[in-house]
Amino acid sequence: MELNITCIPGDGIGPEIVAEAKKVLDVIANQYGHDIHYTDILMGGASIDVHGVPLTEEAIATAKSADAVLMGSIGGDTTTSPWYKLAPNLRPEAGLLAIRKALNLFANLRPAILYSDLRGACPLKEEISAAGFDMMIMRELTGGLYFGERSTTEENGVRKAVDTLVYDENEIRRIAVKGFDIAMKRRKKVTSVDKANVLDSSRLWRNVVEEVAKDYPEVTLEHMLVDNCAMQLVKDPAQFDVILTENMFGDILSDEASMVTGSIGMLASASLNDTKFGLYEPSHGSAPDIAGKDVANPIATVLSAAMMLRYSFDLDREADAVENAVKQVLKEGYRTVDIMSEGCKQVGCRQMGDLLAERIR
Ligand code: NAD
Repeated sequence: MELNITCIPGDGIGPEIVAEAKKVLDVIANQYGHDIHYTDILMGGASIDVHGVPLTEEAIATAKSADAVLMGSIGGDTTTSPWYKLAPNLRPEAGLLAIRKALNLFANLRPAILYSDLRGACPLKEEISAAGFDMMIMRELTGGLYFGERSTTEENGVRKAVDTLVYDENEIRRIAVKGFDIAMKRRKKVTSVDKANVLDSSRLWRNVVEEVAKDYPEVTLEHMLVDNCAMQLVKDPAQFDVILTENMFGDILSDEASMVTGSIGMLASASLNDTKFGLYEPSHGSAPDIAGKDVANPIATVLSAAMMLRYSFDLDREADAVENAVKQVLKEGYRTVDIMSEGCKQVGCRQMGDLLAERIR
């Protein structure tokens, strides 16, 4: 298969972690008979330094012409970097918002997995973490409260602020379809999270999700109120497979779910549009404090590349091979500094990439 991938190394540790993900992808291509073509584009601070803007039209066109985008991370030290003296629309993060918009990436996927060999990092009680968990949070990314009309006014000396939460049924349907499609590749359970006891937008959400569920008879659908979901995530995270939810609830719940894994350097993510196209990136930032030191954990980026194989290219066997290599290396006791624990062997970013590549071979 031909895989045309646009890479965005970005800033900070971005170039280091993307290099290791490419190393792993190259071994996959070699083992399974695929041809990968990479094209790099600049985004964030790296683009500001060269072009004066965080993302050029040309870079967007290159990304659009690819099958998928693999990104490291963008941004610098927000207190010291000169990038943050620029107007907000010229700062590194503006590039990320611009590319998400240009590529119409409305579905955000964040897996939260507790690896058995990293159980010690989980902040939950041992009797809960012992069960392990492996869930996918699916968050609507381009609608809802963050995109509705807003205003701040003052009447008779009283300040008032309004934000509006709007969803139409098409926006809900397309993310629900994605959620059920993803569940079909997993344990076939969708928990749709809303606040239908209070919000009209949630009642519409629930109705449309139920309509979509009729096309997926193999998938079990349950509804859960968002406040209950926030509790269940720390009480019994093993119950979840796919959590499907709107923008703001997903923002909060995905951070909660990732924190219960305890390891920021392990968290992959993907943002998809209504085709097979997606942008894949680690959930963490550009970690300027450790950039260039060969200590960053590349696993979140490597696992994002595995998601790309699975969701953009339908290469499930290859994605499994990458994920199994990660489990194997952890089992053998290799750790980067962020996940280091007593009795394990500490390795740098490049060596972790080498180990993963070797285990796939
Ligand atoms: P961060 O995620 O970059 O770092 C938080 C802490 O985690 C730091 O101590 C860092 O060293 C550590 N860390 C992060 N990733 C790691 C890895 N792979 N291996 C080992 N340790 C790791 O968050 P921050 O410091 O708040 O932000 C730094 C910059 O990243 C800012 O400019 C921010 O805007 C940007 N950012 C970018 C993205 C993105 O590109 N999508 C996301 C979040 C933050």
